[in-house]
Amino acid sequence: QSSGVAPKIKLNDGREIPALGIGTWLGFTKDGGRVEAKSNDVENAVSWAIDAGYRHIDTARIYNTEDQVGRAVNKKIADGVVKREDLFITTKLWNDRHAKDAVVPALRESLKTLNLDYVDLYLIHWPVAEFSNHTLDNTDYVETWQGMVEAKNLGLAKSIGVSNFNKVQIDRLLALTKVSPSVLQVEINLNLQQPDLLAYCKQKNIAVTGYTPFGSLFHSKARDDAPPPRVDDPALVAMAAKYNKTVPQLALRYEVELGVIPIPKSTTKERIEQNIDVFDFSLTEEEKSKLRSYDTGYRVIPVKHWANSPYYPFEK
Ligand code: NDP
Repeated sequence: QSSGVAPKIKLNDGREIPALGIGTWLGFTKDGGRVEAKSNDVENAVSWAIDAGYRHIDTARIYNTEDQVGRAVNKKIADGVVKREDLFITTKLWNDRHAKDAVVPALRESLKTLNLDYVDLYLIHWPVAEFSNHTLDNTDYVETWQGMVEAKNLGLAKSIGVSNFNKVQIDRLLALTKVSPSVLQVEINLNLQQPDLLAYCKQKNIAVTGYTPFGSLFHSKARDDAPPPRVDDPALVAMAAKYNKTVPQLALRYEVELGVIPIPKSTTKERIEQNIDVFDFSLTEEEKSKLRSYDTGYRVIPVKHWANSPYYPFEK
C-alpha cells in the first residue's frame, strides 16, 4: 500500500510543521451528539498513520482522544520507529478554560493525558468562551492569548496559535499583544475556500491548517442543504482518474496547492495511507479553476448556538 512523506512548512516562529496531518476528532452522531471515544480506534489510526509516514497529529482536549494519541505516539517512540522531535503534535484549549490563569493548568492536564513533556502547537480552540455548564462567558480571548504566551514561555508549547478566529479578531490580538499566532486552524474545503482569509494569513505570515477538508464530499456526512460536489461527481472522478488518484486525494491536493495544511481524519487504515499520498502530482490551472467554482461559502461547522457570544467569529 502506498504512503507518503509530507514536506515541511516554516512557521513565523522559526519552527517547522509538516504540510499534512491526521485529525482525531470522531465527529457527531446522526442526532448531533458526540461520538464517544471508547475503544482504541484512534490509537490504531495514529499508529497506522505514523507507519504510513505522517508526522503531524491533530487532537484537542474536547475530542477526548488525547489519551489514545499519547499511547500510540509513546509506543512508536519506545519501539524506535520515530523520535519525539520528528513528530508535530497539536492540542487545543477548550472554551471553559479561557481565563488567563487557567491556560497553563489546562495545558498541563492535556500533557498529562498525552503523556508528553510538550506539544508542538497549542491552539485556542474557539474565540468564544463558555462556562462548563455551556452558558456563554464573556472572557476576552485577548486575556486567553496572554495565558497562551505564558505556556510558550514555559516551553510547554513550542508554538502557539488560534482556531476559528476571523481576520478582525486576529488583528485585535496583534494590536493588543504584539504576539502573532504561528498558526490559524479553520474549516477549508471545496465549499468553503476562504480566499480572503488565506490572503490575509499569507500577508501576516500565519500558517493555515484546514479542518474538515472533505467538507460535504461524502453522501453519508453531507446535510440535505449541502451544495455539490459529492465524491461520485463525474467531473471530479475524471479529474482524479487522470492522475490515478481518488476524489478525496484530489480534494486534499487542491488544498495543499492553496497553501493550506489539511488534517484529514480517518480511522480506516487504507484511507489513512491514501490521504497522505498526495505529494506526487499537481493540478493544472484549468483544473484548479474548476475546483475553485465549488466555493459557495457553505460551512459544515457554523456552531450557531454560539451566535450570541460577543466573540462569535462567523457571519450570522
Ligand atoms: P474530515 O473532512 O477529515 O472527514 C472525516 C470523514 O471522512 C470520516 O468520516 C472518514 O471516515 C472519512 N474519510 C477520510 N478519508 C477518506 C477517504 N480517503 N475516502 C473516503 N472517506 C474518507 O472531517 P473532520 O471534521 O474530522 O476534520 C478533520 C480534523 O480536523 C478533525 O478530526 C479534527 O482533528 C479537526 N477539526 C478541528 C476543528 C476545530 O474547530 N479546530 C473542527 C472540526 C475538525 P473513516 O474515519 O470512517 O475512515
